Amino acid sequence: MNTPVRTVVAGGGPGGMLLAYLLARAGMPVTLLERHHDFDRDFRGDSLHPWTLELLDRLGLAGRLLELPHIKALQFRFRTPRGRAPTSDYGLLDTPYNYVALMPQARFLHFLAAEAATL
Ligand SMILES: Cc1cc2nc3c(=O)[nH]c(=O)nc-3n(C[C@H](O)[C@H](O)[C@H](O)COP(=O)(O)OP(=O)(O)OC[C@H]3O[C@@H](n4cnc5c(N)ncnc54)[C@H](O)[C@@H]3O)c2cc1C
Repeated sequence: MNTPVRTVVAGGGPGGMLLAYLLARAGMPVTLLERHHDFDRDFRGDSLHPWTLELLDRLGLAGRLLELPHIKALQFRFRTPRGRAPTSDYGLLDTPYNYVALMPQARFLHFLAAEAATL
């Protein structure tokens, strides 16, 4: 029988959190190192785009994630002196996730940590 490889992931941003989750889910002992003590700070990844939501769906995470408070943005528009100019219309996409889910990144990271803790 193979001995599970112990892994260490440095950094608890969305990349590191998801990688640590996937490694744990694959049965690998994993330690996540994060230099901050919590997620309570200003992040920049507050928008979860359709492809990200599809990926989370394939991992079986989207349903529970989207039970958490978020805003569904179907469109983004600029306000200009001549009126509103649409920049993107996610509602046209052929996917159940045809919107951007706006959610504080700290909430998303807490969610991933909680999901990893159940493995
Ligand atoms: C202005 C701006 C707006 C953005 N808006 C969006 C958006 O709306 N939606 C979106 O999906 N993406 C957005 N992004 C991109 C998004 O922020 C990044 O893709 C994402 O944060 C990358 O995740 P990451 O986990 O690779 O790195 P990071 O989020 O940078 O996380 C790295 C983590 O590693 C930790 N760390 C660093 N060094 C060490 C160390 N030596 N030891 C332990 N821990 C360490 C840090 O504290 C941090 O928590 C935006 C980016 C910018 C610049």
